[in-house]
Amino acid sequence: MTLPLAQQQLLASVNDGLHIGGQWRGSSHGATVDVRNPATGEVIRTVASASVGDGLAALTAADEAFPAWAATPARERAEILRRAFDLLTERADDFALLMTLEMGKPLGEARGEVAYGGEFLRWFSERTAHVTGRYGANPEGSGRMIVTQHPVGPCYLITPWNFPLAMATRKIAPALAAGCTVVIKPATLTPLTTTYFVQLLQEAGLPAGVVNVVTTSVPGPMSEAILADPRLRKLSFTGSTPVGRQLLKQAAQGVLRTSMELGGNAPFIVFDDADLDKAVDGAILAKFRNIGQACTAANRMLVHVDVVEEFTARLTERVENLVMGPGTEPGVAIGPLIDDRAVAKTDELVRDAVTRGASIRTGGAPADGHGYFYPATVLADVQPGSALLTEEIFGPVAAIAPFRDEDEAVALANATEYGLVSYVFTESLARGQRMIERLETGMMGLNVGAVSNAAAPFGGWKMSGLGREGGDEGIHEYLQTKYTLTPNPFA
Ligand code: NAD
Repeated sequence: MTLPLAQQQLLASVNDGLHIGGQWRGSSHGATVDVRNPATGEVIRTVASASVGDGLAALTAADEAFPAWAATPARERAEILRRAFDLLTERADDFALLMTLEMGKPLGEARGEVAYGGEFLRWFSERTAHVTGRYGANPEGSGRMIVTQHPVGPCYLITPWNFPLAMATRKIAPALAAGCTVVIKPATLTPLTTTYFVQLLQEAGLPAGVVNVVTTSVPGPMSEAILADPRLRKLSFTGSTPVGRQLLKQAAQGVLRTSMELGGNAPFIVFDDADLDKAVDGAILAKFRNIGQACTAANRMLVHVDVVEEFTARLTERVENLVMGPGTEPGVAIGPLIDDRAVAKTDELVRDAVTRGASIRTGGAPADGHGYFYPATVLADVQPGSALLTEEIFGPVAAIAPFRDEDEAVALANATEYGLVSYVFTESLARGQRMIERLETGMMGLNVGAVSNAAAPFGGWKMSGLGREGGDEGIHEYLQTKYTLTPNPFA
């Protein structure tokens, strides 16, 4: 299928090389990786695939650029981030289209991601000049205590495919704000947005070697070599819990600082005192945004037995009206899943739930034809023991199960190894407050279906990860503290 001219031109303007030390270059062993459009399955661009040696060369570049970047005045670093924000805002349509082409999300959502991803540049440009220390007498009065903050050093950033821009800016912006240099490895399935963003950073005046990009089809061996290198000081990873756990083991060798944003299994709890209009709106957002492929996606909809039928009927009616198709087409709400494996996995989870007694209210089988489509699906009466209650669905499937009282809702919600985000719908202030205290979760949406914000500390409890991205906390992930004691100058 021939792409429209504007799409061809946009794709052609994305560099197909690795970015190392300010230079664009091919892979040292000539390897490439194909990037496909999930709406058609067709290859839209072929880019260089880094070798282990290329990964280490990128680390060398980051290590060499580090002293000068760390010493660059905070205001100058802030202004580069701010220019990047302005350029990104000007080119929002191009970035949105690129993301839709390589990842599949509907264009409107892709524009939303450009706005969200851009906010990390603006937020951290504003934090850059506010990294402070403290000075004061020790309690004994015999000395002066000086506490200062320092960039941790060269960082290795690994991002997933589901938010190709925002996951990159959420790491790159605080790292640069803190004075760190980075090597970024975008997801092999969606490297174009990161590459295009790094072209923009160059234009914004970022010095050579501060951000290096190594897309690769061999992430395991390359990452292992980078993590084993003593010049590296930090790993920031967003992706699945199994890969995260393996990387943590490798990072332990060098006692690296780590930030890990891992998987989720979000409960979405609707109490009998909820405003069902708000709850249904929230469910559409929390479940079907990004075609269900979000770590924050509502994975288990736990609904009070007295309102479960009404909630299910209202949600089903809304879901039946969600249009499925290529994300580039107007009015589409459900784009393709990322690949054929994602379609097969979603289908398997739905079949397992149905075999165990769930009923399909809408959707429930993969779509025929080109591309990797699975329709928006509502499953009612999902039974305990169904795999989709314990595994991340990562597809547009709402799994609804009833509960009888608050204690049961809390027990069900917390019965998971994950603890990223929870959603609660209730009109009772006291119940909302009890939920804040009882749910084992790093984030909570109380009567809202989306929580992400650059000014908020994003991150999970339990196996959902370590550390926080965004907020005041975000920059501290890239800073280390030094305490100095000096004698009392008056003694
Ligand atoms: P993934 O773990 O398969 O891949 C994530 C990244 O790790 C990719 O860049 C991939 O190329 C790389 N990778 C894979 N194997 C590797 C290895 N052995 N060594 C080094 N790198 C390796 O996850 P995914 O499928 O890309 O993304 C989906 C997962 O990410 C879901 O579990 C989702 O919940 C999670 N996620 C979490 C957050 C969060 O903030 N908590 C945000 C988005 C996605």
